[in-house]
Amino acid sequence: MIPAAVRDRIAALAEDGEAALPAYLYDLTGLEAHTAAVRRALPPQVELLYAVKANPDPEILAVLDEHVDGFEVASGGELTHLRATLPESRLAFGGPGKTARDLHLALTEGVHRVHVESVQELRLLAATAQRLGAHVDVLLRVNLPLHLCQVALTMGGRPSPFGIDPDALDGCLRVLAATTRLRLRGIHTHLASGLDAPAQLALAQQVLAWAAAWADHAGVRLEEVNLGGGMAVDYAAPAARYDWAALGDGLGRLAAAHPGTVLKVEPGRALTAYAGWYAARVLDVKTSHGRAFAVLHGGTHHLRTPAAKGHDQPFTVIGVRRWPHPWPRPEVRNQPVTVTGQLCTPKDVLASDIPLPALRVGDVVAFAMAGAYAWNISHHDFLLQPPPAFHHLHPLDAVQR
Ligand SMILES: *Cc1c(COP(=O)(O)O)cnc(C)c1O
Repeated sequence: MIPAAVRDRIAALAEDGEAALPAYLYDLTGLEAHTAAVRRALPPQVELLYAVKANPDPEILAVLDEHVDGFEVASGGELTHLRATLPESRLAFGGPGKTARDLHLALTEGVHRVHVESVQELRLLAATAQRLGAHVDVLLRVNLPLHLCQVALTMGGRPSPFGIDPDALDGCLRVLAATTRLRLRGIHTHLASGLDAPAQLALAQQVLAWAAAWADHAGVRLEEVNLGGGMAVDYAAPAARYDWAALGDGLGRLAAAHPGTVLKVEPGRALTAYAGWYAARVLDVKTSHGRAFAVLHGGTHHLRTPAAKGHDQPFTVIGVRRWPHPWPRPEVRNQPVTVTGQLCTPKDVLASDIPLPALRVGDVVAFAMAGAYAWNISHHDFLLQPPPAFHHLHPLDAVQR
């Protein structure tokens, strides 16, 4: 499951001495191929944005920029970062809790869309636009009370700090009617994460039906509906991929049923998760009251994803032959191993009770699916351990070797 080029590079790092690991390796070749396939699977009239909060690494953004229609930023920091790294990119600015300064930035930095999260935010945006003499296009993020069998709507359909309740939309329309500075383009929703393609399409159909009826009733032209992200990533099946072809077919049908409305999606995790690897050396192996543990040079302060989501991070063991010490090399064979980090907390677990043929001190563990919500969501300062190194595997690397 690990691409040969990724394995070779990590094996080379393992030979490079103590300081070379722990490290993140971003496989830009794989990312390029994956994103191109996602774009091809979606109909040309469906816009693809990347949710930057999944991973804002500049080289990852540059690869994505070749294939996406724009980027969804969710803070003033992300906005500034995108303007610095990809000055020409089209930006949609979403997220709750936008400050007056964030909205000022949005207006002076030429943001393409603002996804408005409340009546208060809409008023602040209108006032800021008035003061600056600026214009901006907005989508209203709506928290729709939709229900799907078997699907927990985690961000919407129930009390939430995200988005606007449908019965507050009239208030938004009054604010919009009182200004020439804001132009309403349509509706934004991001109601759930971890949906497979059929569930996402069922939700999209309901969102569109609701939005069309609302626009009709409100006398608004529904130019755009942004359906959000949340495409499922299965950490228990690293080789599986979201069914983008099914989503593309379904969105094509929905687009045909709603002529004049541009559909947009803004995935994060499902685009970049597979492109990241986190490699760390085994520092110690021991048996504790009958259970085997491997302690890594690294941990959840670098890769918090398994602790945050409560899963086992999938990994591959890369054997290292070299053993520099005169004493026997500690190892476990043919038994389940719990892989932990260096932090003084029982929560620093990356994978629990994973059956392994062999694991020795000095071997390297390469965690897959570390390209989204990984380094950037981790508690870097806990215990003041140094940061990992970062490497990028470029399409030309294989040719040059
Ligand atoms: C986080 C987020 C996304 C991306 O979600 P993924 O699960 O990474 O696809 C998209 N839109 C909004 C508004 C978000 O908050």
